[in-house]
Parts: sequence; C-alpha cells; structure tokens
Amino acid sequence: MLVVMQHGAAPEEIQRVVATIEELGYQARPIAGAQRTAVGLVGNDGRVDSGRLAALPGVREVIHVSQPYKQVSREWKADPTIVRFPNGVSIGGDEIALMAGPCSVESEQQILESARIVRDAGATILRGGAYKPRTSPYAFQGLGEIGLKLLATARQETGLLIVTEALDAEGIDLVVEYADIVQIGARNMQNFSLLKRAGRCGRPVLLKRGQAATITEWLLSAEYLLAEGNHDVILCERGIRGFDTETRNVFDLTAIPVIHELSHLPIIADPSHGTGRRSKVTPMARAAVAAGADGLMIEVHPQPDRALSDGEQSLYPEQFAALVREVTEIAAAIGRRVAAPVA
Ligand code: PEP
Ligand code: MN
Repeated sequence: MLVVMQHGAAPEEIQRVVATIEELGYQARPIAGAQRTAVGLVGNDGRVDSGRLAALPGVREVIHVSQPYKQVSREWKADPTIVRFPNGVSIGGDEIALMAGPCSVESEQQILESARIVRDAGATILRGGAYKPRTSPYAFQGLGEIGLKLLATARQETGLLIVTEALDAEGIDLVVEYADIVQIGARNMQNFSLLKRAGRCGRPVLLKRGQAATITEWLLSAEYLLAEGNHDVILCERGIRGFDTETRNVFDLTAIPVIHELSHLPIIADPSHGTGRRSKVTPMARAAVAAGADGLMIEVHPQPDRALSDGEQSLYPEQFAALVREVTEIAAAIGRRVAAPVA
C-alpha cells in the first residue's frame, strides 16, 4: 500500500502518516519524489484500515498495490482448485460441469421429469430452488423442506448431484442435509452472516455474483468462505444490473477470464439469469464455454410456459439437449471436455 502525500505536504504531516502506519503494526518507508512524497506500507496482511490513513491531513490518495483478498487469489495458490464429489463428478480442471433443472421445485412430477430430461441430455448436477428469493413477497416462494425432500428423491432416482439455494443463516443447516452443493444467490452475495455459516457448513458452496457487485467484492465474499475453512468454492457469473431493458441483466463474459487470472477458484456461468430470455441462453452458453467457464448452470423446464418462476428464460428439453451437443464440440475445440454423465 502506498500513501501518496499532497504536493507541498508539511514534514509533520508526513511524520504523522509514518507514525500511524507504525502504530498499526506495519513498517513505513517514506519515498521522497520531485513533486511529492509517498509513504510505502510494508507487510500488509489484508487487515490495514486504509480509511484511517486516507483521512489524515496532507494525504492525497491511498494506492492499493496488492489485492485485498488473500486465500482466493492466484498468488496464494497457483494451481486451479478442483471441487470433487464422492461419485466422481468434479468442477474445475479440464472438465466442464453441466448443472441444469427448473428455477423452482414445483411438484414431485415436475422435478423428477426435469431430472430425467437433464440427465438424459448429459447434465451431472440437478438445480432447483426450494427456497426462492423473489422480488415480490406475493410471488411463489418455493416449497421449502418439501422441495428439499423432492430433490433428494430426484437424486435417488437419477444419480444426479443436487445444487440448491440456502436463503438465510437460519435455514442453511436444513439445506445442508439435502444438498450436495449449497447455492448462495446473487441477492445474498454480501450477506456476511450467511457466508460465515456457509464457510463452516461442510459442503461445497456455489457463490453467485451479486447483481451490482464488482469482481473484487465478489472475491472478497468468496474470501469469507475460505477464511472460515471452506475451500470448496465455485463462483458463478449470472449477469449484473445494466440500463438496457432488452435483457434482464448484462451477462459479463469477461468476468470468466478475469476470475481465472485473479483466482484459483472454478467459475461457472449462468446465462439463464444472465440474459433472462430463452433465445439468448444458448448463444451465451456457447460463448461462456469458449471463454473458459468451468461449467454451466441452465434453467430447463418440462413445460416452461407453465413454470411458477422464470419460465421465460427456461429452455425446452430439446433446446437443452442441443445446447449440450454444441458446447461439447466447443469444449473439444479448446482442449476440454464436458463431464461424462454419471453411470
Ligand atoms: C437461482 O439460481 O435460482 C437464482 C435465484 O439466481 P440468482 O441468485 O442468480 O438470481
Ligand atoms: Mn431462476
């Protein structure tokens, strides 16, 4: 960290910056320049309160030389993290994991039919929300524990792993009883008490990017999980809020190579929430795989026009099967492969 002084800052002001850095437990290295002085802070362990330095008299700006996150960074761990499951499925590495299913678990028939459809098309992980974060309190909120039990039945019937959302810190223990992967939704990306619980939950966590979160904020949220001891973290780009109403969100494809550069954690893409429109899902799924995504999360419904949530972005079964065929070819072109379906 570099504390840049204003032009003509008084020696006492520089001295005060030095003294504050030392008081905080770090070493200060003043560097006198022709125009202004900068004071380097040596030994930053990520705990420095830069606001305290920025507010001192005579300080122009504080420049962060290293990233504020540690354990999620590539510097901390150079080789990519591969999240492995007991049935042989893994996320990260050469394989591309396909997660698919309806937005919400609606009934036994709907989730079992969805599970068979996505498994037969080549997915290895079933998605479906039992607890739904809905904008309106009057919209379908999910079946709750009944939905979790139905997901467990679908796993039993198909061998697919289950990813489902935990909406709050009070509810996470119940979700952990049923889920193979605990999803933290976009709206909860900065729910720090939920993140801390998820960091101790003993299950891999899928952390979606917040609707208006920068990549740094997202990685800092992932850092909460690692800081609590959970290293099985999968990031999920699901679009960020934009101003154009043609799509639901702006699907940030660039986040995929950016995350790969900054972090060792796997990143998957959710073009369903990323675009909000069925006709845009397959093109963006192809693009995400081409950009290096470690997996896809796709909303698929046996009858999208009857879905209780997100029907307009849910693929028809045959559309999902075509998507899988296409991304399989794209994966091969970049030296990767779509994870084989479970036996
Ligand atoms: C979901 O995947 O069901 C969901 C609600 O997504 P997001 O948190 O990205 O909006
Ligand atoms: Mn949805």
